[in-house]
Amino acid sequence: MNIIMLGAQGTGKGTVAGIISEKTGIPQISTGDIFRKNISEKTPLGIEADKYISKGNLVPDEITIPMVEDRLTWEDAQAGVILDGFPRNIAQAEKLDEILKAKGKKIDLVINLVTPKEEIIDRMLTRRVCTNQECKTTYNIKLHPPKKEGICDKCGAPLKQREDDSDPEAIKRRLEIYEEKTSPLVEYYKNKGVLRTETVSITVNRMGQDVANDVIKDIKGAQ
Ligand code: AMP
Repeated sequence: MNIIMLGAQGTGKGTVAGIISEKTGIPQISTGDIFRKNISEKTPLGIEADKYISKGNLVPDEITIPMVEDRLTWEDAQAGVILDGFPRNIAQAEKLDEILKAKGKKIDLVINLVTPKEEIIDRMLTRRVCTNQECKTTYNIKLHPPKKEGICDKCGAPLKQREDDSDPEAIKRRLEIYEEKTSPLVEYYKNKGVLRTETVSITVNRMGQDVANDVIKDIKGAQ
């Protein structure tokens, strides 16, 4: 099963994808995580990507699309994937359709997460991530804090704030880009009949965990 996580930054795409992946065994492919790993290892890809990411801009398609295309050839991706952070514009979505079609596959489900804007900004400012690249667990110091401040519950590594989450200008830019470039994908996938929109918000007492549990139930029920 091929799933896409859609939604603005800070809506909980990574959290929902991580839970679904853990419970179903479908691998999570996060383009943001791949870029951050390359940045921390100072690879040529990381050095190039960082120029865009640190300012809150999208990494150009010429870099991002081949990276995802290659990742989709890995053995673990053959039975299905959860794409978290890709596609982020129509050109990427069209290319993805092409790549999957050539393999006789398609996108089966797009989970579109919607959260009020004020809540999104607050969540980005209070998000912390595990610095261990093999773990990468995400916390929120208000909503889902670690048991010991600044330390990952799962692996004991220090937590840190993402650079692009600590810069208000980068946050603003990312949300503008989401509106302009990524949000047209909602209509794109709606027209394909695969869109499932879910509100994630404290105002309706529905968090990422609830969405993930419902999706997992439906996936398992359909099998
Ligand atoms: P994320 O962890 O998904 O918020 O991604 C962090 C940053 O990586 C984004 O703000 C972009 O700069 C870059 N990025 C991630 N995925 C993509 C993509 N599909 N296309 C272009 N840039 C991306």
